[in-house]
Amino acid sequence: MLIYMNGKLVKQEEARVSVFDHGLLYGDGVFEGIRTYGGLIFKCKEHVDRLYKSAHAIVLKIPLTKQAMTQAMVATLKANKIIDGYVRAVVTRGVGDLGLDPRNCPKQTVFIIADKIRLYPKEFYQKGLKIVTAATRRNAPEAINPRIKSLNYLNNILGKIEAINAGVPEAVMLDQNGFVTEGTGENIFIVKDGELATPPVSAGILNGITRAAVLGLASKAGLRASEKMLTRFDLFTADEMFLTGTAAEIVPVVMMDHRVIGTGSVGGKTLKLTQEFRKLTKKDGVRYAV
Ligand code: PMP
Repeated sequence: MLIYMNGKLVKQEEARVSVFDHGLLYGDGVFEGIRTYGGLIFKCKEHVDRLYKSAHAIVLKIPLTKQAMTQAMVATLKANKIIDGYVRAVVTRGVGDLGLDPRNCPKQTVFIIADKIRLYPKEFYQKGLKIVTAATRRNAPEAINPRIKSLNYLNNILGKIEAINAGVPEAVMLDQNGFVTEGTGENIFIVKDGELATPPVSAGILNGITRAAVLGLASKAGLRASEKMLTRFDLFTADEMFLTGTAAEIVPVVMMDHRVIGTGSVGGKTLKLTQEFRKLTKKDGVRYAV
């Protein structure tokens, strides 16, 4: 496998990061994960824009233009002959000393990995997921805004560990007041009485790119889209529930905290949105040839 590392494509074994890199020492950096479908980087512009916004929010300058970043992703995909896969772009504060001061990190580290996507098991999509509510609350936006896709994913990992301990693949995380935010690595949606509802970005969530795409498809599924604060009660009493994310795409949820959601099987609106989403993945992005 070839990795893009600070401007060069190098062998995986040679793609090394220093133990003094603040991305490693402090989670000081940002990243994006993007899917490619049949030689199309899906929603490439949206992902690149989000990467630069995340970096801007943590006062991290990316030493490449957006165009150069896109070209570097294309080059990495091509070098590894990835047609249907996943590309991960990471920018860290770079090598510094053991102190926190980012001024001691003169050069950012940029690397890009292009790989096959590890798919969730088929039965997740056919039968739907069981999820639980994590006791760990989502990071408060006033502390570390979840809109920043940073390398500091410990909050999400703690939520994920709770899911694993409960014997399920995912957990929903609440904010400090008990309102629903998102899953540990996906956004959350419900369908109820003809409405497609998901928490607003101001609830303290990642502004998911799949989320935005699905909101845009609501009318095609005969649904009114709504961004509003949701409680666990809203989730328990929903007709349908699903999670969205780049890797997961649209994954149905059929049980939460031992409450059956809707009929307990994958809902019709979820299926319709999934079909419409499939169509989008064939056209909306940046094309490349391997
Ligand atoms: N929330 C979190 C915390 C995430 O890490 C992700 C991405 N894996 C998402 C939501 C979904 O965002 P996107 O659709 O842009 O992948």
